[in-house]
Amino acid sequence: MKYVGAHVSASGGVQNTPVNANQIGARAFAFFTKNQRQWKASPLTEESIRLFKERCNEYGYLPKHILPHDSYLINLGHPDKEAIRKSRDAFLDEMQRCEQLGLDRLNFHPGSHLNEISIEACIHRVAESINRTLDQTIGVCAVIENTAGQGSNIGYTFEQIAGIIDKVEDKSRVGVCIDTAHALASGYEMRTTESFNKTFLYFDEVIGFSYLKGMHINDSKKELGTKVDRHDSIGKGVMSITTFELIMHNPHFDDIPLILETPNESIWAEEISYLYSL
Ligand SMILES: [Zn+2]
Ligand SMILES: [Zn+2]
Repeated sequence: MKYVGAHVSASGGVQNTPVNANQIGARAFAFFTKNQRQWKASPLTEESIRLFKERCNEYGYLPKHILPHDSYLINLGHPDKEAIRKSRDAFLDEMQRCEQLGLDRLNFHPGSHLNEISIEACIHRVAESINRTLDQTIGVCAVIENTAGQGSNIGYTFEQIAGIIDKVEDKSRVGVCIDTAHALASGYEMRTTESFNKTFLYFDEVIGFSYLKGMHINDSKKELGTKVDRHDSIGKGVMSITTFELIMHNPHFDDIPLILETPNESIWAEEISYLYSL
């Protein structure tokens, strides 16, 4: 069974996210556990945690179908000692928020080398950041998202992601989320049945489907290999409907959150029912 949803607003508090997801007919959802553009956030209140859990229960959302996303400010591969400490503290805080909400996964972008260290050194730092965080938390899986490779972001090849996973001590608490728009922009063709199968066979060889904890289902404004991250609404960008059709039919994508991060939130309900119609 497929669990399609969208990255919904947490405005007014995380307790509103299951309500927002339910309103658009989502069977899965994503959200920011705190303001994604600020370092500090006040702790989650007892009331907000209680309501979040109560409403997830009421609308039938299981933890495995909810994929929270961390703040864009966090860089777990930062070359600077002070800066990486700040990022690690913020990431730990986000993992603890997931713990408090009873969730089992947190989606994040691996990090950036800022042209100051090598990709290999950056991979080491990201893995070290994950290890430190897992040591201090229980039950939440760190889900690495593939990137478009924009700027000095790492995580745009399956090998780089596998390189991080390889250095994580507790393999049961590390996973991967594949963003279709990022994958295309980073150079993975998937617009025909043949190229889709080839790309995901390669994904399985290098990383493995057992690590797949979620997908971001986005069309892309930017072409193959451009390394530019610009999402588009389903059917509006350069991606083909074949890609989405194949995802909806392939059992490898069963039972994980399939999340829209498409730009026009007023059509999310339509996009979700369209994906189910495929
Ligand atoms: Zn992301
Ligand atoms: Zn994404």
